Amino acid sequence: MARLVMKFGGTSVADMDRIRHVAGLVKREVDAGNEVAVAVSAMSGKTNELVALTKDAAAMHDAREYDVVVSSGEQVTSGLLALTLQEMGVSARSWLGWQIPIRTSGAHAAARIQEIETSQLVERMGQGQVAVVAGFQGLGPDGRITTLGRGGTDTSAVALAAALNADRCDIYTDVDGVYTTDPRIVEKARKLEKVSYEEMLELASLGAKVLQTRSVELAMAQGVRVQVLSSFEDAPGTLVCDEDEIVEQELVSGIAYSKNEAKITLINVKDTPGVAAAIFGPLADQSINVDMIVQNISEDGRTTDLTFTVTREDLKRAVSVIESSCKDIGYEKLISDESVTKVSVIGVGMRSHAGVAQTMFRTLAEKGINIQVISTSEIKVSVLIDDQYTELAVRALHTAYELDE
Ligand code: ASP
Ligand code: MG
Repeated sequence: MARLVMKFGGTSVADMDRIRHVAGLVKREVDAGNEVAVAVSAMSGKTNELVALTKDAAAMHDAREYDVVVSSGEQVTSGLLALTLQEMGVSARSWLGWQIPIRTSGAHAAARIQEIETSQLVERMGQGQVAVVAGFQGLGPDGRITTLGRGGTDTSAVALAAALNADRCDIYTDVDGVYTTDPRIVEKARKLEKVSYEEMLELASLGAKVLQTRSVELAMAQGVRVQVLSSFEDAPGTLVCDEDEIVEQELVSGIAYSKNEAKITLINVKDTPGVAAAIFGPLADQSINVDMIVQNISEDGRTTDLTFTVTREDLKRAVSVIESSCKDIGYEKLISDESVTKVSVIGVGMRSHAGVAQTMFRTLAEKGINIQVISTSEIKVSVLIDDQYTELAVRALHTAYELDE
């Protein structure tokens, strides 16, 4: 017997047929003698629809009322799944965030879970009742409904699993696991049986959007074992777990890419102390996240070129921030470029093996792809390239690191 949290995303509960199918998956776990809590998302498309309605009602809306509206999709699916389970002869009860309660911070529309009172759920699950919890929502310190930010049901599920001390958190979605790279680009991409939390964080934040990043951080911090699997197929998925649990650790686990990048180069920046602070300070003040940075050594000791990247949505704002603090910085010219992609090679095996970056550089060179910026961390090497070579680079790297199926 185990204690499980099962999470079903929007496409898994898109209509009554899908909800009946999901109820069958829950019933199977209950019949196997497990204690089950379920976290559900809204039916697919529903949250977008609700967000659009709030915008229509008021362009600059009050976040408390936004939360009242957008949290309603999960209320509907939790009730429908509880009803469907009951129809199948499975004891079930729905729970909204405030009923448990799932206590959160007061940051409406972007709240963080602080505490979950599990006593009622534990008692009922012990009696064989399935707890169907509305995801994405909680109760703020002001006594009002909060939501956790888009994709937040992943975080609801992991937080529930941590609070309930569950043996595993199964996240059911419309893909059957985490792949070595995007299968739309590389046909030979392989499903990973296991991936470490740290690698998953890099994969998730670099564009392999299977799990909400925050849910992975939480799983890592709390040691929750998370399985990503499909509700459309009956097959095991990918287990996201501690690296100690992965016996056959590959050197490289995956190749990620992000097209959401823009590059800014400042030509002939003064090479004096305080210049970097003068550039990046105002950007940080405007909450503009800077990712990769390179600064050249100046030839004459007086000026240098500086290149860095921001997300494409932030590019316009970043340029205007820099142009308006131009006097303080003192540079000759600003060049911005949106036609770049960041490609990253990820693997905890890099910690103990040399030569991983070299394989990447050689492979790209053989394909004639120029590297514009390089950045590294303990478990990742990232390069910025011209975005027209994205597919070519990802495929070549996938082969070079022997990830092809
Ligand atoms: N329904 C919410 C959203 O679409 C939460 C979730 O599905 O995780 O963002
Ligand atoms: Mg999602």
